[in-house]
Amino acid sequence: MLLGLPAEGLTVLVERSSERVSEIAAGWRDGGLVTGLVPTMGALHKGHVALLEAARRRCDRVVASVFVNPSQFGPGEDFERYPRDLDADSLVLEEAGADLLFAPEAADIYPQGFRTRVEVPSISEGLCGRFRPGHFTGVATVCAVLFGMIRPALAFFGRKDIQQLAVIRRMARDLRMAGEIVAVPTVREPDGLAMSSRNAYLSPGERKDASLIFAGLTEASELARSGAVGASALKDAFAAVVGRGASLRIQYVELADPEDMEPMQVLDRDGVLAVAVHAGPTRLIDNVLLRPGAGAVEE
Ligand code: AMP
Repeated sequence: MLLGLPAEGLTVLVERSSERVSEIAAGWRDGGLVTGLVPTMGALHKGHVALLEAARRRCDRVVASVFVNPSQFGPGEDFERYPRDLDADSLVLEEAGADLLFAPEAADIYPQGFRTRVEVPSISEGLCGRFRPGHFTGVATVCAVLFGMIRPALAFFGRKDIQQLAVIRRMARDLRMAGEIVAVPTVREPDGLAMSSRNAYLSPGERKDASLIFAGLTEASELARSGAVGASALKDAFAAVVGRGASLRIQYVELADPEDMEPMQVLDRDGVLAVAVHAGPTRLIDNVLLRPGAGAVEE
């Protein structure tokens, strides 16, 4: 792969140097162009493409970062074996009309002497944060670095990672960063499984069982639509469906406020039913936004 130049036949610029990326983004900004940022860890799929398309619609220039950020993985997690394929990713980005692929090395994001940690307490602590201590500090810190480097007018995040979205929104608001954080709906496989780079880890049996995660969320949504408001009834409905998958084990199922991620006992306003489920050894997350009496809603 050529660096700093499009790979053969490609028009998406591939850059590894954070200084170069800052310069390019500053040039666009000075020229009055609206820049959008789509941060990813690569192994791009249709979920990422939806983010890129949303960015393409609203921005003059689209930067996608591909960086498997070591600081958001805990000991024993899948950092080493996380799928990496920059050539395939650059083709996806080319097709989606991205202008710049920023693919830094860890030493470029965290040069010697780097010390800063961005913590967003309470929002980061429940749900996934309970099982992945330090994860959201890693996410917030790397996003703060990217926002500082690129200074995007808009940054795009998927609703699939709903707690991450809440953490980044809070951070951006508190630190007056990135003009707007744009949330993009979850893209799903035909059977409802949320697209994820980690789906590649699933055995055929686990993959089949994994469709029960969305089926369980749908069951809970139907219950909410029919008027149920108790968090435990909604959680039980989810658990009953997921219980049918021999390879599945629920790590958590919680009803939470979509903004501050505080647990809700009653669905008396919009609430996120957020779940983490192991399919064999692979941990998958998903969620649905519920509205009392209406069931699942997009926004
Ligand atoms: P990742 O590469 O998994 O860190 O994800 C990068 C961005 O893509 C995050 O903002 C995710 O929320 C988003 N994303 C991942 N999967 C999906 C999906 N199935 N639908 C929509 N957005 C997604």
